[in-house]
Amino acid sequence: MIPQILAYQDMMVFTCEHFLYDQEPILWVFHNEDDQWIFLCGLEHEGGEALLVKFKLINNADSSILQLMELPLGQQAHRASFRDEWVIS
Ligand SMILES: [Zn+2]
Repeated sequence: MIPQILAYQDMMVFTCEHFLYDQEPILWVFHNEDDQWIFLCGLEHEGGEALLVKFKLINNADSSILQLMELPLGQQAHRASFRDEWVIS
């Protein structure tokens, strides 16, 4: 593993309870203007509280996430399902 990817592993990121407790796949990734990362599943999140976890928890569940780590600030990526390719917007 390259050092840059190793450094990501202990980074704290936001995710949703569906991913953490129900093993829902991550379908939406947002790298916000404050350099925070948010990883959400495809379900509704209104009123839900974001949970803070280490990035490696996300990465261990889905290694395809690593290809998004160069996402610029303020950009997001999404995909229709676990099997689809990531689309950056
Ligand atoms: Zn969710």
